[in-house]
Amino acid sequence: MTKEDFNEGLLGFLDSSPTPFHATKNMCGMFKNAGFEKLDELETWNLQEGKSYYLTRNDSSVIAFTYPKKSRNYLIVGAHTDSPNLKLKPNPLLKEHGVVKLGVEPYGGLLLNPWFDRDLSIAGRVSFLNAQDEIEDRLIDVKRTIATIPSLAIHLDKDANQNRTINKQTDICPILTTNDDFDFDEFLEWQLAQQGVVGVKRIYGHELSLYDAQKASVVGLRGDFISSARLDNLLSCYVGMLSICSIEAIKPMLFIASDHEEVGSDSTSGAGGSFLENTLHRIFPEYNEYIAMTQSSLMVSADNAHAIHPNFSAKHDKNHAPYINSGVVIKVNANQRYASNSTTIATFMNVAERLGESVQKFVTRSDMGCGSTIGPITATKIGVKTIDIGLPTWAMHSIREVCGADDAYSLYNILVEF
Ligand code: ZN
Repeated sequence: MTKEDFNEGLLGFLDSSPTPFHATKNMCGMFKNAGFEKLDELETWNLQEGKSYYLTRNDSSVIAFTYPKKSRNYLIVGAHTDSPNLKLKPNPLLKEHGVVKLGVEPYGGLLLNPWFDRDLSIAGRVSFLNAQDEIEDRLIDVKRTIATIPSLAIHLDKDANQNRTINKQTDICPILTTNDDFDFDEFLEWQLAQQGVVGVKRIYGHELSLYDAQKASVVGLRGDFISSARLDNLLSCYVGMLSICSIEAIKPMLFIASDHEEVGSDSTSGAGGSFLENTLHRIFPEYNEYIAMTQSSLMVSADNAHAIHPNFSAKHDKNHAPYINSGVVIKVNANQRYASNSTTIATFMNVAERLGESVQKFVTRSDMGCGSTIGPITATKIGVKTIDIGLPTWAMHSIREVCGADDAYSLYNILVEF
């Protein structure tokens, strides 16, 4: 696969995955096309050597794995499906001042400012009672630009450029329409009807998010950058997904993309939950084999890394300031916010070096706090040696983030080489 084909597929994946549910559905489609067999956690598994499998939990987390004969030395690649966003409250409609607007709750640590003056749409999961009196879940993606959060004009806030702050309850309600007859359940029923779901008796609940309808794009004089929503962490999901689809089923590899990383990973489908552990126990039901597998394997926890921002260079330690388009970033933290250690770094760098792919190292400034990833959580739960890596990114947790056009393809090549 050429870098151009790789990046073109990436843009399509980003645009068609506005929520973790959609990302999971798209990855499952890819695994199915690549010949992976679907497993159900409710059923008994009869795994066959030489085959590859995938399964989901909560429709928002996914695991895919190969099942070679007597396998140890798995390469486990981990990423997360969720991104910071504005989530609709259960009863979202607010009718006042001549408009209908939406009550929202920020999900994760998002930068709020970039959400103003964008063309927004809505996507997510709806749970309802169908015509057959059964509870059913469906994904919806409105796609049309149906909402906007206008800025307050500078004439009404002279200090806006010096000290504007944003109140999460009152200042960021997306505006939907001036038609105050609008009914939210009817709107959802109409969305479901577009998919052929008719006779919905009652909408019970929804997990819907606002998203920027502007599509992912290649920018920069030489097409140097990729600009898109949700690069953190759909970029790593895409690389992990393509990597496991590109290797032969006789090679031991497992890919997991978990939901809820942006809010701490503690959930049934998050990396702090039981999904990976349960799955590994079922692949290796014999306890000694399970331990041998975890102790012989390597987890590559892939999440985006902060590239040095050329306008704010003082925010980085000058010896650990990754550049865009200069290769995968290895993340290190003395306090185990990242799980990398010298032996996992050596293993990773050795593979990259064999391919001639450059890597960079990142440490947060000692006088600043450090983020974390699913790496330390998985290392703690499973006991697997782990390295935290990521692709250099600007504007992380903005509504639109920027990464390099070369780096994701470089990570793909390294993972396949493993
Ligand atoms: Zn992330």
